[in-house]
Amino acid sequence: MSTIQAARSPVEPSVPVLPDGLALKYVAEGAANVIWRISLPDEQLTPPPTVIEEYSESTPPPSEVDIDIDIGKENGASKANGANAPVITDYSRLLLRLRKCLPSSESNLLAYEYLSTVIMPLFPPGVMVGQELVKLPPALVARANDTLHHLEKAGVRPSHRQYLYLAGDPRPTEQGMEEGYAFLLEDMTPDTSLGEFLLEFKAKWLVQSPNAPADWKRCRTCALRLRKYTRATKKGKHTEWRGLCPFDLVSNDPKRAKNAIRRILHHPRCEDEKLVERVTAALIGCPQLSILKELQASLDPKGILNADHKSKEFLTAMTLRDCTFYVKVSPTEVQARLGDFDVKSGEAGKSEYWIKNERELIEEGWYNGTEEGDHPWKAEGLEVICRA
Ligand SMILES: [Zn+2]
Repeated sequence: MSTIQAARSPVEPSVPVLPDGLALKYVAEGAANVIWRISLPDEQLTPPPTVIEEYSESTPPPSEVDIDIDIGKENGASKANGANAPVITDYSRLLLRLRKCLPSSESNLLAYEYLSTVIMPLFPPGVMVGQELVKLPPALVARANDTLHHLEKAGVRPSHRQYLYLAGDPRPTEQGMEEGYAFLLEDMTPDTSLGEFLLEFKAKWLVQSPNAPADWKRCRTCALRLRKYTRATKKGKHTEWRGLCPFDLVSNDPKRAKNAIRRILHHPRCEDEKLVERVTAALIGCPQLSILKELQASLDPKGILNADHKSKEFLTAMTLRDCTFYVKVSPTEVQARLGDFDVKSGEAGKSEYWIKNERELIEEGWYNGTEEGDHPWKAEGLEVICRA
């Protein structure tokens, strides 16, 4: 993929600067970031109700953007990076993502550089959750940290998130970590008063692992799920062995696709046949699945066991196997976006971990369906068999 090598220009620091006086409202937080709703001080906005921690643990809200200044619509290279940084005047459909003082996390500038040079060029406009880098006035971070302290005292901040605050606070009394940038994200928050809801799922491996044995019966994702189930059960933990088969999603078979969508909708929504059909039609027709499938195949033709783990193509394929679908379903519309593109690196033992996993899936028979043990899927009618 020649696009991967393209455009390795350093990010210009001429990005929009957020005004100092923006009103901030805490929305949710993940391990590494806190999400805020923002408005101009004189705006009398009534944002849709937002449930704190509505989003999954690992993933900050499905919001990574498509701003009025055309972020996300410009296939990667953002107009905001020009010398004439635009002024944002409408924050009503945007969220602000501020980074926490987490030493293992990457700076927002580096994260944006990776996104804008490696990931964004792979997708046409409107496919990814829109996101834009903005410069932060330090006073804004200080105010946001004050809010976090306040929420903590009031018992509102989730207890497992306490005592870690935002990077970029200039005050010596605060946790010290430099951060001059933040992300503006497209707000995918559903308006529940309008009957909207949000689906969040990972499509995982949409093509078979190139290392799977020729006579495989299961796709990489289903094989791994069964192995994880077995290991969790041995430790006395409960996980689900039935789940979404990515191959069903891209099968072009309406019946299989509907089965996949039922898994994504969960109970009781999966019982609503009209809803299942509507979401299936929308997702089957969306460009995301076919693009991801094609990229996963072309960027990693050799597979984990034979690929060069330092190659950008391979690492990008791993990122694309782990990105998240955010699907906002309203009574009349289904809107899909991709987000959560974490930089993958084979370092810190990750390469060895990937290889070990793949070898075990092959050698223990998880791909072939010859794994040892008395498992629930061994019963007649419950077999897990995937088809390309
Ligand atoms: Zn499968």
